[in-house]
Amino acid sequence: MISENLTSIYKELPSGVKLVAVSKFHPLGSIIEAVDAGQTVFGESRPQELEKKVKELEAMPGAPEIKWHFIGHLQTNKLKMVLPYVDMVESVDSLHLLQDIDKWGKDNGKVINVLLEMHVAAEESKQGFVEEELLDILLRQADTHPFRNVRICGLMGMATNTDNEEDVRADFGRIADYFEYLRDLCPELTDFTELSIGMSGDWKIAVEYGATIVRIGTAIFGERQY
Ligand SMILES: *Cc1c(COP(=O)(O)O)cnc(C)c1O
Repeated sequence: MISENLTSIYKELPSGVKLVAVSKFHPLGSIIEAVDAGQTVFGESRPQELEKKVKELEAMPGAPEIKWHFIGHLQTNKLKMVLPYVDMVESVDSLHLLQDIDKWGKDNGKVINVLLEMHVAAEESKQGFVEEELLDILLRQADTHPFRNVRICGLMGMATNTDNEEDVRADFGRIADYFEYLRDLCPELTDFTELSIGMSGDWKIAVEYGATIVRIGTAIFGERQY
């Protein structure tokens, strides 16, 4: 079933758009099924769960080559459970976190790929930067490059959790417009190319708005087993 789900998503996903298979709350066996079907990029949102899965997979014979994206809220005291293992942190939602990731990178001789999470959804509970904060960070990075151990690769966002398609379109439109605005404003930031929007319920709309990454869990793995 996982393999069929992946096949039907890839059939409709434009070839330039990266699919992150969100495996949070799903067992190792589901990840392996997806790997066997050819999937290489996976997303997790809880530090402990990520670290445990990475270690268990590494210990398996013929350990699969997986690229992990971290997509959940990340606390500074959990960086060491996440940063050694991931290809990208998509969910950088505060200046404090950005600074701490940069410092971890410096201390460990690494440059960490990150996306800045933009807050657009109607829900107050959702995380992320507002427009002016993103502008400030990017202008500073373009000007004096204060964050030398992070590579700011683009924006991530989540639309309002609603069945009203117009609201979802408004959210994606706002992120996509701001992403383009920032790119035009800071052409020297050549790494700033990724727009991660779209989940199981709205990824096809996200693609219309220029998503370069979609993060899909339920439509691949089924309902999460909390
Ligand atoms: C869980 C999660 C997803 C995947 O959600 P589905 O609706 O299951 O596709 C995508 N992005 C983030 C940030 C998530 O936490």
